Amino acid sequence: MMGDVRAAQVPGVPTLVEGPQLRPGAEATWSPIDSIWLITTAERTRTARLKRLVAGEDAARLRVEALVERDQLIGARLRAAALDAGSAVVEVPTDVDWDCVLAAVREAVNTATASFGRLRPGRELSSRRRHENAVVYRQIVAHERHIGATLPAFPYACVCGRSGCTDTTPATSAEFEACA
Ligand SMILES: [Zn+2]
Repeated sequence: MMGDVRAAQVPGVPTLVEGPQLRPGAEATWSPIDSIWLITTAERTRTARLKRLVAGEDAARLRVEALVERDQLIGARLRAAALDAGSAVVEVPTDVDWDCVLAAVREAVNTATASFGRLRPGRELSSRRRHENAVVYRQIVAHERHIGATLPAFPYACVCGRSGCTDTTPATSAEFEACA
């Protein structure tokens, strides 16, 4: 994951890295800016894990409870470590209002990045979006290989390079590969 960030080669511009592989302890070795931790409930984790199972995974279904227990333990450790480090923690309740989560994350990101430069519209922004799309594509393909199934289309970011553009193009892995 950090290899992907370094490969983007945009020094001086903050990079927003997201993923369950990150930990407050490890973050200190590569992120001098800030971090924000989203932590959810057992009920939410259980629902997400059950939804992610593909048909025929009966053995995996039996493991879900053990995994949920592990998730809760990891969540509690993350919360403690993040608070220890003075980082923001956003609780994601079972009946989440994503607008509230978005507002909390946006505020934390804006505060952390206020003093930094931004990518310039045009080639710089466009090439960063391409890089991000390629990283997402690689992760999706790896996950598809792992579960032995094809995932639904992912909304890849528009690469027009216009500042503030939030357009996306949904594509399956096969479709993305065909256009790359
Ligand atoms: Zn665009």
